[in-house]
Amino acid sequence: MTVKTRGIVLGQIPMRDQDKKLIILTGDMGLIEAIGRHVGGARSKLSAAAEVLAYDDLCLFSGKSGYIVDSADLLRNFYGLRADLHSLSLAGYLCELTRFILPDRDNGGACLKLLLNTLWLLEQGRRSPALLKAVYELRLLCLSGFAPDLSGCLHCGAEEGLAFFPLDGTLLCPACLGTMPPDRPRMPLPQPVFLAMRHICEAPDEKLFSFKLTPDSEAALGKVTEAFTLCQTGGRFKSLDFYKTIC
Ligand SMILES: [Zn+2]
Repeated sequence: MTVKTRGIVLGQIPMRDQDKKLIILTGDMGLIEAIGRHVGGARSKLSAAAEVLAYDDLCLFSGKSGYIVDSADLLRNFYGLRADLHSLSLAGYLCELTRFILPDRDNGGACLKLLLNTLWLLEQGRRSPALLKAVYELRLLCLSGFAPDLSGCLHCGAEEGLAFFPLDGTLLCPACLGTMPPDRPRMPLPQPVFLAMRHICEAPDEKLFSFKLTPDSEAALGKVTEAFTLCQTGGRFKSLDFYKTIC
């Protein structure tokens, strides 16, 4: 049986005989693995389409032991990202985080769209890498069922002077802070950062990246989204550590 789909390669695992296991984010099936036969060989027609960050039209055999790539037509390769180590290392982190989140049939399409749009903006230099990282982290968590509760202070609904609790994804105002154990990690949330987070969680796709922050607020947003991401995933990401050494 063959299956047609579109997807972006997030990772490659070398196997014997120049074969590679490809980890692919598809729109309709979520994250899948497919074997690319001989794609490591010098004469392989598939090698460009099997590169990490290649976005392909795919035809897959569905066999007993999983998918095997029958044909792959490269639609886009985000080659421009390779010219800049900063952008390329961020793209590596976005791929690793997406693999960790394990998009499925239900959210694969939305996750794929988010990744393609973010990589395009990164390649074009239309937004700063730091802002793209923050938007991607928070929006991906929202798409995966980890949206924070940004309706206001958890207890009284106040919307100013809030602190964010990355383990819980909740907010408290200064008057209600005493309800949380004092050792619970918290981060001050300046008002522009709070409003930006709301925007990232709630905006329709076409307006997601349409907001501006000062460099200070952008840095604060980045700290909050990264802390929230690491708390919610419980993850450590090698590619994030590498990205930070580049910055
Ligand atoms: Zn309150």
